[in-house]
Amino acid sequence: MKFGVIAYKDHQLNENAYLTRIQPLTDEAKAIEFIAGLTSDGGGDICEAVLDGLHQAVTHAEWRSDSTKFIFHIADAPPHGKQYAVPHLEDDYPEGCPCGIKLEDIAKVMNEKKIRYRLLDIVLDPRKFNEKYRKAIEASNQGMKKMISVFSHYFGNLENKQLREAHEVTSAVTQFIVTDIAKIETSPLI
Ligand SMILES: [Zn+2]
Repeated sequence: MKFGVIAYKDHQLNENAYLTRIQPLTDEAKAIEFIAGLTSDGGGDICEAVLDGLHQAVTHAEWRSDSTKFIFHIADAPPHGKQYAVPHLEDDYPEGCPCGIKLEDIAKVMNEKKIRYRLLDIVLDPRKFNEKYRKAIEASNQGMKKMISVFSHYFGNLENKQLREAHEVTSAVTQFIVTDIAKIETSPLI
């Protein structure tokens, strides 16, 4: 089994920021080391460079054609673009990704390669935050709902799971893999 990691942030770049950072397919230890070296900082608007990350994931990774492929996408905010707009969702790029990456192009590759797209939607509880951030958290949660509804029209193989805390990621990924492997054993090409 091989693991790759694509970390994405956003287009407004300052000295510590990056759009995407990539660990090509490697072994488990190297992937974990790469993740340990990532930081989450910066900020600005709520929307993120989601499409840039996904685009890298479907095109950059050296997927073997006969392998079983998964993308586990951990997200708490939607992409740029007015199709994901909800009240209070700050978006510096309402026309979508400024590099011109289109959702339909990503979906085409993802569907052709039969990648199992598993979206882990981090839904934080707005009540746990002070007033300054509460509206932003609510907007982010609603924006994610919109993203899932838009994405489900494009990706034939999308399943999502809501998580209340980031530390639930490990068990959610395990559950997806166990469920999917059971399905693969009965029907190899779903
Ligand atoms: Zn972009």
